[in-house]
Amino acid sequence: MCQLCLGEVEDIDHIFIRCPFAQEIWRRLSWWLNEELIRFSSVEELLKALKGWKGMLKKVTTCIYTSLWCIWSTRNNWIFDKRRCSVDNIVEEIKTQAFPWISNRSRNMTFNWQKWNVSPMKGILKL
Ligand SMILES: [Zn+2]
Repeated sequence: MCQLCLGEVEDIDHIFIRCPFAQEIWRRLSWWLNEELIRFSSVEELLKALKGWKGMLKKVTTCIYTSLWCIWSTRNNWIFDKRRCSVDNIVEEIKTQAFPWISNRSRNMTFNWQKWNVSPMKGILKL
């Protein structure tokens, strides 16, 4: 049983895609990234789609991997430590963790944290 929603049997696609908790995170990230992310029905489908991302969108695939990690961490923190985290806090954590990862791995680009927070596409500028 999924411990985040108590609604369904827990499997990989439920935890990361179909769980209402994950859906709310993807909904907010869709708005932030300006890319529809709640259309996927499986992790495999999501990861396949990422391979097709081009240009600036390709730069922010790290945000998706960070999101998967944060959803997994949230699940584990709740099950093993009884520490619950709000969707708001998780989305902020995703933005905070992804920013240095992307900015430190990208040459010929400049990054602006304030703009990144509003829209990652506007927070990354080519030099
Ligand atoms: Zn669930």
